[in-house]
Amino acid sequence: MSDLATARELDARDQAPARDQFLFPMHGDREVAYLSGNALGLQPKSARAAVLTELDRWAGLAHAGHYEGRLPWTRYAEALRVPMGSIVGALPQETVAMNGLSVNLHLLLTTFYRPSGARTKVLMERHAFPSDVFAIRSHVAARGLDPDVEILLLEPREGEDTLRTADIIDTLERHGQQIAVVLFGGVNFLSGELLDIPAITAAARAMGCLVGWDLAHAAGNVELALHDWDVDFAAWCTYKYLNGGPGAVAGAFVHERHLGRADLPRLAGWYGQDVSDRFGDHERLMPSATADAWQISNPAILSLAPVLAAAEITAGIGMPSLAARSRRLTGYVEELVAPLMEAGRLDQLTPSDADRRGAQLSYRLDGSSQEVVDAMHALGVSADARVPDVLRLSPSPLYNSYEDCARAVAALVEVL
Ligand SMILES: *Cc1c(COP(=O)(O)O)cnc(C)c1O
Repeated sequence: MSDLATARELDARDQAPARDQFLFPMHGDREVAYLSGNALGLQPKSARAAVLTELDRWAGLAHAGHYEGRLPWTRYAEALRVPMGSIVGALPQETVAMNGLSVNLHLLLTTFYRPSGARTKVLMERHAFPSDVFAIRSHVAARGLDPDVEILLLEPREGEDTLRTADIIDTLERHGQQIAVVLFGGVNFLSGELLDIPAITAAARAMGCLVGWDLAHAAGNVELALHDWDVDFAAWCTYKYLNGGPGAVAGAFVHERHLGRADLPRLAGWYGQDVSDRFGDHERLMPSATADAWQISNPAILSLAPVLAAAEITAGIGMPSLAARSRRLTGYVEELVAPLMEAGRLDQLTPSDADRRGAQLSYRLDGSSQEVVDAMHALGVSADARVPDVLRLSPSPLYNSYEDCARAVAALVEVL
């Protein structure tokens, strides 16, 4: 049986639960085989109506839109607490939708990076996303410290592409007394490796460090339990696996044990004040007893509306069932690519152990990955290149079919 026929059979048994709720770019009269949901998730059909509703409310109510209706703008972000909480495994009051991801990292580091005495260092991965590197370096420098001295960078062992949990824990046990904050990407953007978040968090906390996670590639991709894992803080964007739209409003998590504390340093604004009292005549912030305490400005409603529409889809299906389908779909792509690997045409960077990855498979090519991605695009397939030589394929369990996967790999075979 051809790969395509097998794929169709699999689709009949294991349908994408929300395929008909998303809009696909077209290649001629066919839907693009879209395996770039790790870069920008597709548009939910409900996003347009959600934005139009707010435009209509603005036209019809103007200022009164802040206070009237089912979802007044002053309370709009709160509607995301429950769906977002279920997606990242948090209590509703522990999450807030605000700003962009890098901005949220800055706000959280302002609170949680508090170098003092011998405990001044930050532990992170050598191959972190550039924005995270810049953000952390700027925090260290802003405290009058030297980033080249204070930042400990962990890299994979010689000849390996991913980090080992045991090596991270060993570093924590050896240097933990000097580490103020640990900040890793939950799923590495380049290798697709999912770190053992609970084990690393527990080891770091046992050494007295505060622990934050960048979940840009983890939120909406893998099952998370931030509250139960005792993570101190986290931030993620909503335009990748969460389909919130380009540059959409990001998410942040602060563990319950840090909520309601007026003594924590933070950059404050009126939306961090308790919602009942934002216009109060106060000399200092009385922080909201929720993660809203890290909000500064009133939120961008037009950019929040699609985030809410999209989060309701993901939360409605639920991460356990999405993650289970994701394993089947990603495993299928891996199987289809295997002959290329055996023929020496590419190397897989992503762990083959399904417990150590999400929906993304990263491959190192022999040559320019951008050229390969461009050629695949001409065949109606969307994949993504990280220069110079990494190709990323990411089937979304929400909307991708097995047929999408088979078409994508067939295009890769043809191009290579
Ligand atoms: C996508 C991504 C970002 C993007 O940052 P923005 O502030 O949303 O522009 C940052 N960090 C990581 C790890 C990412 O994957």
